[in-house]
Amino acid sequence: MKIEIICPKCNWKPDGGAYWECSCGHVWNTFATAGRCPKCSKTWEDTRCPSIPGGCSKWSKHVDWYRNLDDVMKAEMEKAFKEKSIKI
Ligand SMILES: [Zn+2]
Ligand SMILES: [Zn+2]
Repeated sequence: MKIEIICPKCNWKPDGGAYWECSCGHVWNTFATAGRCPKCSKTWEDTRCPSIPGGCSKWSKHVDWYRNLDDVMKAEMEKAFKEKSIKI
């Protein structure tokens, strides 16, 4: 099954745009780095659905955005979040 990235609250699909701003001020596409700021390396375990491109602006766990992620991959991702070293 193909993995899709979709907002678990409103089904908005990220279009590859840079809609996420880190606390350090860097703006980037959080799904390109699995929630990790490329500038300061802060890992965002929760991801907000951006309202500008049509999202619901609600927060969800980053892993919940991935559809069809099997249990093994999900466990890997959650582990990686804890280690703060994930890179896709
Ligand atoms: Zn940052
Ligand atoms: Zn949403």
